[in-house]
Amino acid sequence: MMHRIVIVGGGAGGLELATRLGHALGKPGRASVTLVDGNLTHIWKPLLHEVAAGVLDAATEELSYAAQARWNHFRFVAGRMAGLDRARRVIRLAAWRGEHSGVQTPAVELGYDTLVIAVGSIGNDFGTPGIAEHCIFLDSVAQAEDLRQNMLERHISRVAQGIDTALRIAVVGGGATGVELCAELLDANRTLAHYQSRKEGLEHLDITLLEAGPRLLPALPERISRGVRENLQQMGITVRTATAVKHADASGLYDAGGKLLPSDVMVWAAGVRAPAFLREIDGLETNRNDQLAVLPTLQTTRDPDVFALGDCAACPRGGGASGNVPALAQAAHQQATLLVGNLRRRLDGKPLQDYRFQDRGTLISLASYNAFGKLFGNRVIEGRLAHFFYASLYRMHQSALYGPWRTSRKLLGDAIARNTRPLLKLH
Ligand SMILES: Cc1cc2nc3c(=O)[nH]c(=O)nc-3n(C[C@H](O)[C@H](O)[C@H](O)COP(=O)(O)OP(=O)(O)OC[C@H]3O[C@@H](n4cnc5c(N)ncnc54)[C@H](O)[C@@H]3O)c2cc1C
Repeated sequence: MMHRIVIVGGGAGGLELATRLGHALGKPGRASVTLVDGNLTHIWKPLLHEVAAGVLDAATEELSYAAQARWNHFRFVAGRMAGLDRARRVIRLAAWRGEHSGVQTPAVELGYDTLVIAVGSIGNDFGTPGIAEHCIFLDSVAQAEDLRQNMLERHISRVAQGIDTALRIAVVGGGATGVELCAELLDANRTLAHYQSRKEGLEHLDITLLEAGPRLLPALPERISRGVRENLQQMGITVRTATAVKHADASGLYDAGGKLLPSDVMVWAAGVRAPAFLREIDGLETNRNDQLAVLPTLQTTRDPDVFALGDCAACPRGGGASGNVPALAQAAHQQATLLVGNLRRRLDGKPLQDYRFQDRGTLISLASYNAFGKLFGNRVIEGRLAHFFYASLYRMHQSALYGPWRTSRKLLGDAIARNTRPLLKLH
């Protein structure tokens, strides 16, 4: 029987891996490659804050897994992994009920010879009371759309009632996601004001960014933290560092001293963990964030037939550096690239190669206002150049999925569409 490779999770890492393995092993008939995902379409996760702000329409940007599978010689199975039986080499996909048809689908099993788990991460509320009930997370397109619709409804309601007080938004987490979301929301509000022929609408949006640590973007050089903070404040965003959120209720967020920050909309972007179903799944080793412990080859520590990559894997940085690989799209991409080679070597009976994290830098976009980046070692860039590199990250991901020709055509199509679509999704 042909060797069966099953990849669970078609995100930044998993979809690139399925696409490349489809060509390397699926097309020549050396292995069957199957991708499993709980959704029917892929969107690159670093775009979610743009979806939430309405500056990017998920419907025009998402990629159909079924179509990608057809074009790239792999098979797509829609389903949500819920269990694993390593002895029988099967994964279990959860039962589900159709929202529109009411049709019931029982749990089903899918066999593998090599399994790659690439299910990403979800927001980590660290058990803080009230957060799960009252805050919106930014883990999926559905949640990003939820935030967008939430703000749009509030806006429509206020306009209808003639309410002119500020809409209070609190974002928890001064990492890249929180910072970029604040900037996008404010920028989108300006565009909204423009659509409604109002004067700049800043006074209608009161955004507060809360960070428990002493500065924003702790993983980046101090100069960038300072520059980003100054820019956000110039934009009219309140930045509060050294402020740990201890609980939330319907009226807002409470700090360690019990002081309430009254908020209409609360977003939690303060850390990530792997999905809970991975916790010690069928005896595999996991850490306290439920990430699967992997060797530098990306094989899980207790089963050489099960690999993990991206945010759901606890992988040593390699090259003598301490700590684990950070949860970043660039790491998921690098690991997918290594696994293409390693899974070929595995079929050829050759030894596998080790992964070593290569830090290609970090870029932070403050919507149309500014951008910052740390590239080429510790070189700090800002402004147009940083914006250019930031935009090129997504184009590189598209290139891995579509190839350079189709990516260039998409680039052209996007440029044309920019003049024919509204700047903001208002429906
Ligand atoms: C707003 C935002 C901005 C970001 N900006 C950056 C940035 O600028 N640069 C950067 O490097 N990183 C950034 N990141 C982090 C980056 O998005 C992640 O590190 C990256 O997407 C991880 O890739 P992955 O393949 O591990 O998982 P993901 O891309 O999250 O994909 C996981 C996939 O698994 C599927 N899945 C989940 N559970 C199951 C299940 N049980 N069964 C089947 N399928 C399942 C999901 O549907 C999804 O398709 C950002 C993240 C966010 C939220």
